[in-house]
Amino acid sequence: MGEELAVGEDQLKEDICKVMRNLFNRGLISALGGNVSARIPGSEEFWITPSGIFKGELTAEDLVKLDLEGNILEGFLRPSIEWPFHAAIYKVRPDVNAVVHAHNPFTLGLTLAGVGLKPITVEAVMVLRKVEVVPFAFPGTEELANLVKEKAMAGARAIVLQNHGIVAMGANLYEAEAIAETLEEVAIAQFVAMALGKEPPIIPEREVELYYKLYGIS
Ligand code: 13P
Ligand code: ZN
Repeated sequence: MGEELAVGEDQLKEDICKVMRNLFNRGLISALGGNVSARIPGSEEFWITPSGIFKGELTAEDLVKLDLEGNILEGFLRPSIEWPFHAAIYKVRPDVNAVVHAHNPFTLGLTLAGVGLKPITVEAVMVLRKVEVVPFAFPGTEELANLVKEKAMAGARAIVLQNHGIVAMGANLYEAEAIAETLEEVAIAQFVAMALGKEPPIIPEREVELYYKLYGIS
């Protein structure tokens, strides 16, 4: 984790479609929900999924290439309405090369119930670290992009968008996908424990610190 994948643009586009398919197959997005983007390594341009079409079977030709101001550089379809927060993240986080936005139902359900995700598994500790939450703002707005940007600037890897979904940021597409999937895994495990009337035990703070030290995570 944490390494930039050495991939060409064609591979990047194939990988975006694959990630989108995985999110759909895992029930983290509905047919029209969610969006995925990836920065062309070392540049100020990124490929993003199109808006409002079936997300389960996208192909490379459906994708749109944008600059960080949202200008369309390549592609025929309308880019995702959420391009402003994707671009905002790339602007403030040079370490981020991929952004996944999904509608994780369990993650969202717990957050709506006021329950925060806890460090109940090693993955929750290592992959998610601290999960941030932003208040509701309408999809596709500058307001939402600004809320996401603030958390990205503070170093977030995972953000829950209240009443909407999640945003995951990674050094590459598979890291961003892993963060989105881990959010849901942790939310489901926590939900199961709570549904059985138990407060799930968490990994102790000192163990977490130790892991962070071992893997050089600040
Ligand atoms: P797009 O189809 O425009 O990407 O919108 C889906 C979505 O999830 C909006 O938040
Ligand atoms: Zn959405």
